[in-house]
Amino acid sequence: MSKKYCYLFSEGNANMRELLGGKGANLAEMTNIGLPVPQGFTITTEACTQYYEDGRKINDSIMAEIMQYVEKMEQINGKKFGDKKNPLLVSVRSGARASMPGMMDTILNLGLNDEVVEAMIKGNPDPKFKRFVYDSYRRFIQMFSDVVMEVGKKYFEQLIDQMKEKKGVKFDVELTADDLKELASQFKAEYKSKIGSDFPSDPKVQLYEAIRAVFRSWDNPRANVYRRDNDIPYSWGTAVNVMPMVFGNLNDNSGTGVAFTRDPATGAKGLMGEFLVNAQGEDVVAGVRTPMKIAEMATRFPDAYAQFEKVCKLLENHYRDMQDMEFTVENGKLYMLQTRNGKRTAQAALRIACDLVDEGMRTEEEAVLMIDPRNLDTLLHPTFDAKALKAANPVGKGLGASPGAACGQIVFSAADAEAWKAAGKKVVLVRLETSPEDITGMKASQGILTVRGGMTSHAAVVARGMGTCCVSGCGDIVMDEENKCFTLAGKTYKEGDYISIDGSTGNIYDGLIPTVDATVGGDFGRIMSWADKFRKLKVRTNADTPRDAKKARELGAEGIGLCRTEHMFFEADRIAAFREMICSDTKEAREKALAKILPYQQADFEALYEALEGNPVTIRFLDPPLHEFVPTEDAEIRQLAKDLGKSVEEVRGIIQGLHESNPMMGHRGCRLTVTYPEIAVMQTKAVIRAALNVQAKHKDWKVCPEIMIPLVGELKEFKYVKEVVVKTADEEIAASKTKLTYQVGTMIEIPRAALTADEIAKDAEFFCFGTNDLTQMTFGFSRDDAGKFLGAYYDTKIFENDPFAKLDQVGVGKLMKMAVTLGHEVRPNIHCGICGEHGGDPTSVEFCHRIGLDYVSCSPFRVPIARLAAAQAAIKDRK
Ligand code: PEP
Ligand code: MG
Repeated sequence: MSKKYCYLFSEGNANMRELLGGKGANLAEMTNIGLPVPQGFTITTEACTQYYEDGRKINDSIMAEIMQYVEKMEQINGKKFGDKKNPLLVSVRSGARASMPGMMDTILNLGLNDEVVEAMIKGNPDPKFKRFVYDSYRRFIQMFSDVVMEVGKKYFEQLIDQMKEKKGVKFDVELTADDLKELASQFKAEYKSKIGSDFPSDPKVQLYEAIRAVFRSWDNPRANVYRRDNDIPYSWGTAVNVMPMVFGNLNDNSGTGVAFTRDPATGAKGLMGEFLVNAQGEDVVAGVRTPMKIAEMATRFPDAYAQFEKVCKLLENHYRDMQDMEFTVENGKLYMLQTRNGKRTAQAALRIACDLVDEGMRTEEEAVLMIDPRNLDTLLHPTFDAKALKAANPVGKGLGASPGAACGQIVFSAADAEAWKAAGKKVVLVRLETSPEDITGMKASQGILTVRGGMTSHAAVVARGMGTCCVSGCGDIVMDEENKCFTLAGKTYKEGDYISIDGSTGNIYDGLIPTVDATVGGDFGRIMSWADKFRKLKVRTNADTPRDAKKARELGAEGIGLCRTEHMFFEADRIAAFREMICSDTKEAREKALAKILPYQQADFEALYEALEGNPVTIRFLDPPLHEFVPTEDAEIRQLAKDLGKSVEEVRGIIQGLHESNPMMGHRGCRLTVTYPEIAVMQTKAVIRAALNVQAKHKDWKVCPEIMIPLVGELKEFKYVKEVVVKTADEEIAASKTKLTYQVGTMIEIPRAALTADEIAKDAEFFCFGTNDLTQMTFGFSRDDAGKFLGAYYDTKIFENDPFAKLDQVGVGKLMKMAVTLGHEVRPNIHCGICGEHGGDPTSVEFCHRIGLDYVSCSPFRVPIARLAAAQAAIKDRK
C-alpha cells in the first residue's frame, strides 16, 4: 500500500510525533480530548523527507493527496479556498518531532487575494471589519514575500514607516483601513519589483509555495545550527500543519496569547504568559508591541479566560508536564492553536520535575528522564559575586528572560559578537530585538540585552534554550544602532564599553561585576540522588590538580579517571625543570632534571589521593606533545641554556632537533618511555611513594594507584613499559616494608590497540578509551587542525556533528565495542572506562553504557551531566 502523507487532526494522536511532528501530534491529541482546535490537517515528516529525496520537489502524488485534504478541510469547516462568499484562510506552520522554537517558518492568512478581500468586506458592513481585512491582507503579502520568496521584511517595514510618517501616526494600529489597503497594493508592487512577477493570487498556488517553503526551512542555516546543538538528526524532517485561521486581530473583542502552566524561568507553579488585544500571534512573539500579563485577560475576557484556565489544567494533567500553549480569542471565543511540553531553564526543569514527583504525577525515574543533561551546564555557571553586587547600583532594568550572570564588552551586531569572540574577547550583545539570523552571534556572547520584547520574544526563548543569560525588553534604552551606541540612565554606552547583566532579576549594571562559581543543592541534589540510584556506570573525572579534583568530588565524581601528568607542569616554576628534562641530550642530564621533577610529582599525587579520600585515582604517564612544551621566547631559551649548562646555540639546535612534522603522531606517550625508561622510573617512584605516604596517614582508606600507559599499539610495547613500572614499584614497596596494591593498565587510543585488545589484555589490568586520539587516528583527522575543514563537512551534510565532541558510534564505537569484547574474552573482569572528551557528552555516555563500560571520566563540570546521562541510559535500557 502506498504511504499516507496527510492526516486530519481527527486522525492522529500524541503518540504519532515521528510522523506528525510535535505540533501536529498535539493538535490531534487536543482534538481527541475535545478542546477547541480549528480543524485542519498535517502533512507528514515523511513527505518532507520525500521532498528532499525528489530533489526539493513536492511530487505529484503527494500534491494530489494534499489537495484531497484541502477539500476535506473545506467540507469540515464549511468554507472554501478562494470563495467569494465564505472564503477559507489558513495558517501553514512547521512542526518537527522535537520542538525547534523560532527555527523554521510560518505563514498566516494564506488564501487572501484582491477578490477574496472585496468579497469579505462586502459580507460585513462594519467599517472596523474592513480595516481588519486589509490588515490581514498586508500581513499576508509581507509574510509570504519574506518567508516564501525571501524578499526580506525590511522593505515592507520601510513602507509601513513611510505610511505612518505620511499620516503623522506612531503605531500600526492607528493606520486606517484605506491606509492599509494602500499599503497592500504598495507591498504587491514591491513584490513584483523584487521577484519580477505578480504576487500569486490563486490560494492553491499560495499553499503549494508555502508548504515548499516550510520543507525548505528544515535546511536553513539557523535550523542546522540548532539541530547540531540539540542532537536532532537531519533525517527526521519537519511536518507541516495547515489550519484554518482564527483571527485575534478581528476587533477589540479578540486577541492572541502565549502561556505556560508553570514559570519557564523558575519552575514555580501557576499560569504565566502574555496576551495582546487585537493582534495576531506573530506580534506577541516578535515583541513588537509590549503585551499585557495573562492575568489581566481575566478582566478583559472573563469567559474565555475561565475556559482557558480549565484547558491549562486539563492539558498539564494530560501530558503530566509543564505546557507551553498558543491560543487566540476571536470575538470572545477561545481557540487552542498549539500545546507542547514547554522549554524551560535548567533551574525550572529541576524544580518542575521534583514538584511533579511531590504532586504524585511522576515517578522518580520519570523525573530523571525529564531533565536534559546538557542543560545542567547552565546551573554550574557563575553568578555575580554577592558582595560586589550589593555595592553595585542597577542603571536599568529589563525582564529577567534567561538566568545567569554575564559581563563583557558591548557589541551591537551578531557579526561583531562572533568576530570579537574569535579575538578572545567577552561580549554582551545589545540589540533592539533579535531575530533568528542572530543565532550564531548570540551563541558567541556571554549575554544578550534587548530593548524590545517580552519573556516569549525571540531573544528570550532562544537564550533560554542555549543557557545564555538574557535581559529582554529594557525600554529605557535609547538605541542608536547605526552609530553603535545607546543611552541609558543619562550615560552613553559605546561599542567596547563594559556592562554586566543579570538574567534572573533583569538588572543592568555599568562596568564589570565579578562572578563566582555556582553552588548546587536543593532540587539539583534530589534529582542527582535519584540518578545515582538508577545508573550502572560509575562517573569519574579528568583532573590534574587537587583543586579540580575537589570540585569534581563536590559534583559527585567517584574517582579520577585521568590525571594528565604533563599538565602538572604548566605553571611557571615547574616548567623549567620539565623543559630541562625534554631538552636533555644525555641520560645523566635527564636523570638530573627528573630528580628535580620527582618531589613536585610526589607532592601533587599525595594531594590528589588526599582529595579523593581513598577513591580510585588513575595516573596517566607522561604524554606531552613535545611542541607544546619546548620554549620559543628568547628569554626562556637563555634560561634553559643556563639550567642545562649549554650555550644558547646548542639549545637552539636541540630544540630544532625536537621538531616533528606530525607531533600528534610523534614522539609522545609510551614511545617516550621506550626511548627514555628513566622517565617511567621517576613517575613510578612518585606514584608509589605518594600512595604509601597517604595510605600510612589514612589506614581506613584503600589507596590503590592505577598506572595508565598512553598510546600503546602493541603488546610488546606495553610489556616493555610495564616491566619498568613493576620493577620500580615493587622495589619501592619492598623498601617501605608495607603492603600496597597497584594496577598497570593502558589507554586504548590507537586503532591497533583496539584491534589487538585480546593480546593487550593478557598483560593490561584495565583499559581506558582515549577517544580523542582514537577519533583522530580512526578518521585520520588531526585533532589540532580538523576545525579548519569540519565546517565544510557540516555544510555538505557529510557530518552532522563534530566527531571530537560526539562519539562516532558507527566507526570509533565499533572499535571500542570490539576491544571491550576481546578484552573480556582474555580477562573476564577487566575494568573498562573512557576518558576522552566524549565521556561527558550525553549521547556518547549512553553508548558507553550500552557497550558495557564500567565508568566514564570527564571534566569536573560535566560530572553531573554524565551522572544524569548514565542514569537515563540505564532507565531506558530497563524499559
Ligand atoms: C584521549 O586521547 O582521548 C585522551 C584522553 O588523552 P589526551 O587527550 O591527553 O591525548
Ligand atoms: Mg590521548
